[in-house]
Amino acid sequence: MLSLKDARLFRQQAYINGQWLDADSGKTITVTNPATGAVLGTVPEMGEAETQHAIVAAQQAWTAWRDKTAKERGQIMRAWYQLIMANQDDLAVLMTAEQGKPLSESKGEISYGASFIEWFAEEAKRVYGDVIPASKQGQRIIVLKQPIGIVAAITPWNFPNAMITRKCAPALAVGCPVVIKPASQTPFSALALAELADRAGFPAGIINVLTGNSRAIGGEMTANPLVRKLSFTGSTETGKLLMQQCAGTVKKVSLELGGNAPFIVFDDADLDKAVSGAIASKYRNAGQTCVCANRLLIQSGIYEQFAEKLAVAVQQLTVGDGLKGETQQGPLIDMHAVEKVEAHIADAVSKGARVVCGGKRHALGNTFFEPTILANVTPAMRVAREETFGPVAPLFRFETEAEAIQMANDTEFGLAAYFYSRDLGRVWRVAEALEYGMVGINEGIISTEVAPFGGVKESGIGREGSKYGVDDFLEIKYLCMGGI
Ligand code: ADP
Repeated sequence: MLSLKDARLFRQQAYINGQWLDADSGKTITVTNPATGAVLGTVPEMGEAETQHAIVAAQQAWTAWRDKTAKERGQIMRAWYQLIMANQDDLAVLMTAEQGKPLSESKGEISYGASFIEWFAEEAKRVYGDVIPASKQGQRIIVLKQPIGIVAAITPWNFPNAMITRKCAPALAVGCPVVIKPASQTPFSALALAELADRAGFPAGIINVLTGNSRAIGGEMTANPLVRKLSFTGSTETGKLLMQQCAGTVKKVSLELGGNAPFIVFDDADLDKAVSGAIASKYRNAGQTCVCANRLLIQSGIYEQFAEKLAVAVQQLTVGDGLKGETQQGPLIDMHAVEKVEAHIADAVSKGARVVCGGKRHALGNTFFEPTILANVTPAMRVAREETFGPVAPLFRFETEAEAIQMANDTEFGLAAYFYSRDLGRVWRVAEALEYGMVGINEGIISTEVAPFGGVKESGIGREGSKYGVDDFLEIKYLCMGGI
C-alpha cells in the first residue's frame, strides 16, 4: 500500500458530473508500478456510453460556468492550485508509484502542473476583444472572444499531471468545461486532480475524468458534435488518427505530438554547461519526454572531449525506484518501451556505432535500463529518424554550421531543438534557421507556464501555456452594427 497523508487522494473510480462512478459493465483495468511490477489498484474500464454521459453533463453545466466572471472562475481555480500545492508530497508519491520517475521529478511536475492553473486563472481576466474602425458610415465593428465549448483532452503517461493542467487550465479559465481521458498507465494522478478540483468547488460537470478504453472513449469524444475542441498530447500516429476522426464534425484540434530533438554543440560552446544541459535534456524522465534531446550533434573539434565528459556525468546517474531513496533515473514505463530502446541500440551497433557506456537492461530488473551513450552514430541509423523515448544519447559528428542545421532539420518533426554556442552571430543564425517550435540556446530545460510550448511540422498544432495558450480555447465573433 502507498503511504499517503491523505488516503482519499487515491481514487479508483472515474469522476463524472461530480460523482465517483464505476463502469456500466463493472469491468476494470489494473494499474501497476513499473519499478516493482506490483499492482497498485484498478480503475473503471469505461467506453462510449460513459463518455456520452460526461459530455451531456458538461453541456448542461456549461452555461452557468461561461456566465461567471473571469474573476469568479479564477477564484475557484486558485483554490484548486492551492490544494494541489498543499498536497504536493502525496501527489508526487502517487505519480512516482504509477509512472516511475524519481520523486524529486514528480514533485517538480506537480508544481509545474499547478503553475498552469495559477497562470491561466490570472490570464483569463485579460481576454480582450477589439473595436475595428468601420468601413461605412453608420456602422460599428466589434470583435468578441468567447469560449469554444466542451473541450475533450486526451493525455499521455509521461507527464500524468502537467499534461492535464496545461490543457484544462486555459479551457476552464476562459469558460469551457472539460472531459479528460488520462493514459491508462497513469490514471491515479488524474483522479487525484479531480478529487482536489471537487474540493476546490468546481460545479458538477465542469471537470470530468474518464478512464478506460482509449478507442471507445476517443471515438465518442471525436464524433460527438457537442465537443467543440480536442486537445491531445501523445504519439504522432495517434494524433493523426484523432485529427482524421475530428474531421467529421470539424472540431478545432490542438496536438502536441512526437519530437526528434537535435542537441547541437558547437566548437565554441562552454563544454561543461553543454554536458549538464545534455544530462538534463536527455536523461530526465529516463528520456521519456517529447522534448528530450534525441540526437546529439557534436562538432568534430570537440567530439571526443564532449563524449568523455558526458560519459563521466552519465556514469554518476543513480538508477532506482524513486520511492526508495534518492534517484536520478527510474524505470521505463513498460516492456514495450524497453524493447524499442534495445532495438534502436542493436540497429546502431550493427551499423557501426560504439557503446560508450550502458547499452543494456539494468541489473535492477523489471523495466530499468542503463543510461547509455552511443558514439560514431550516422544518419543511416534508426536513432537518427525515430524518437527513442529512452535513456540513450547518440552522438553524431558534424563539421560546419551549415551541416549542423541541415542535419537538425532533416526530420518530419519540429518540436524542440537545443544548441550551445557563445558566438552571438551564430546564435542568431542558427536560432532562425532551425525549423522547430522551441529552441533552447545554452539551456537544456525550457518548459515554463509563461512561454508558448508547441511544435511545427508533424510535431503538432497549437501552443500551450503563456498568453498565447488561451487562443486555442476561444472563438472570435465579429459583430457588425448598422443604422447608427
Ligand atoms: P504513447 O505511446 O505515449 O502511449 P499514445 O499516442 O498511444 O502514446 O497515447 C497517448 C494517449 O492517447 C493515451 O491516453 C492513450 O490511451 C490515448 N490513445 C491511444 N490510442 C487512441 C485512440 N485510438 N483514440 C483515442 N485515444 C487514444
